[in-house]
Amino acid sequence: MSVAKDDSQVRQKEMIAAHYTRLSRCPESGEKNVYTFVPGNLTELLRSFDLLPVLPEINALQSAMRGKSKDYIAAAEKLGHSEDVCTYVKCDLGMMKSGNVGPTGERLPSPDLLLLSYTGCFTFMKWFEILRQEYGCPVAMLHVPYQGDGVVTPAMRDYVVRQLRETVIPMLERISGRRYDEDRLKEMLARSSAAEDDLVAVLESAKRRPSPIDAYFGGVYYIGPIFTAFRGTADAVDYYKLLRAEVEERVRLGQGPVTPEGDLPAERFRVVVEGPPNWTSFRAFWKMFTDEGAVAVASTYTKVGGVYDTGFRHDPARPLETLADYCMGCYTNLSLPSRVDMLVRYVREYQADGLLINSVKSCNSFSAGQLMILREVESRTGRPGGFIESDLVDPRYFSAANIKNRLESYFQMLEQKRAGAA
Ligand code: SF4
Repeated sequence: MSVAKDDSQVRQKEMIAAHYTRLSRCPESGEKNVYTFVPGNLTELLRSFDLLPVLPEINALQSAMRGKSKDYIAAAEKLGHSEDVCTYVKCDLGMMKSGNVGPTGERLPSPDLLLLSYTGCFTFMKWFEILRQEYGCPVAMLHVPYQGDGVVTPAMRDYVVRQLRETVIPMLERISGRRYDEDRLKEMLARSSAAEDDLVAVLESAKRRPSPIDAYFGGVYYIGPIFTAFRGTADAVDYYKLLRAEVEERVRLGQGPVTPEGDLPAERFRVVVEGPPNWTSFRAFWKMFTDEGAVAVASTYTKVGGVYDTGFRHDPARPLETLADYCMGCYTNLSLPSRVDMLVRYVREYQADGLLINSVKSCNSFSAGQLMILREVESRTGRPGGFIESDLVDPRYFSAANIKNRLESYFQMLEQKRAGAA
């Protein structure tokens, strides 16, 4: 693994660790925190009030990567939550019931506010209903209209902005004890935009051959800061500048992606991946790709907390309107035809050999319609699709032998197709 790559990884790890430590100290420091979700988050707005975001999905996936989700899910099921409930929810509840100790081993504070940015998934609403019962804390809701017709209309934007002005901002003023400061928000949005430019440059570097990055497994690290607690901060700007420089250096040297096994020696297959990763066996799952020389050159999961490669940037000149556009533009808020268009574009622009779908049991937001998506993308691009099934954070649904078999068959098919075309 190159030293330059390590720099951004170390930096990200430090940022995340410092954030969890700061959260754990809230009871003594008096800092207030807001639990909120990744797709459609209002991080800049929260931070403009000096409120600290807590992202329950991130806690769940981090717990899974550290081998803790199995017990948390079991604890939630023991309390009566059905096997069919999204495992992020059960992992989060199990963690809370086990002392609310976060993934880094430090205790998370109870929420001062639950901010529900209702983007793309009804489960979020049920999740916070349960947390409200548990914590008895205030709730603010931002209802984000679904892009059913594939566009954001002025009426949709006005609807979101009105809620921000009339509901969300007054609630944040009450919780924080501070007045809304639009100039401060604008400064944060400008920093978001700078970091977004660098993130897009990193993701689009995968159009090269060999791709210097893996845009799915590696991609989840790259989106970390911008999709979570750091958008709008100077830390995020610095991180993405550093990351971009590292990736540009890999391009200059003609290197492929860094993987947990080291640099990928040769790029044999280029695939676009749809769906979230499995977190309980993340490394083993990634290795199944690297063993075959397969690189993910684009993915939709890296758009779940914001789609930036179509040109959207947070715009400081229109602070509330831009937050509305951001929320409505997140991947799971897009209609199925829009998702198909995006995937077709990725297969073509990134010169992929095919589309691979990881259908996770937990998540209707992603999984509904995936077979239709697969057929449509295959027929429009002429490139073969593959389909595997797993889960987010429930290890009972990661069948390694099964998934490996399916992946091997899929890559063999790509090989045969290539040989037939030659
Ligand atoms: S169903 Fe999917 S989008 Fe909804 S909370 Fe679970 S993981 Fe998130």
